[in-house]
Formats: sequence, C-alpha cells, structure tokens
Amino acid sequence: MDSTARPAGDIARHTTAAGATIALATTDRGTSVICGGCESEWVLPEQAARDRAQAHAKTCRTLPKP
Ligand SMILES: [Zn+2]
Repeated sequence: MDSTARPAGDIARHTTAAGATIALATTDRGTSVICGGCESEWVLPEQAARDRAQAHAKTCRTLPKP
C-alpha cells in the first residue's frame, strides 16, 4: 500500500502489461472498471468487476496516453 490519498469509492488498481492503470471503483450503478490505456469502461457486480480488471490487465496492450 502506498500513502497516496484515493478518491472515495476507489477500491483497487491494476496495471496492464503495457503500463496503463485499470481503476476499480464503487459507484451507485455497481463497481466500475476503467482502463486508462484503451479507455474501456464496464460497470459490473463487484466480483465480476474484479475478475474483469484482472483479466483485462493481462490482455490489454494499449499504451497509456502520455
Ligand atoms: Zn485496456
């Protein structure tokens, strides 16, 4: 864990093979997964969102924007 303050609702982050960040956050619609590389976004039940983030971290090859 780092000491950086996280926005409310932010529950986890993953880093893709290309170095982009995938953020998981709780929203009023469900758990959102947002990829900082390809800009994909999903809103899913929490467990599905965690699975999606982990799977996407392994497969996304889009380089993060500078
Ligand atoms: Zn992606």
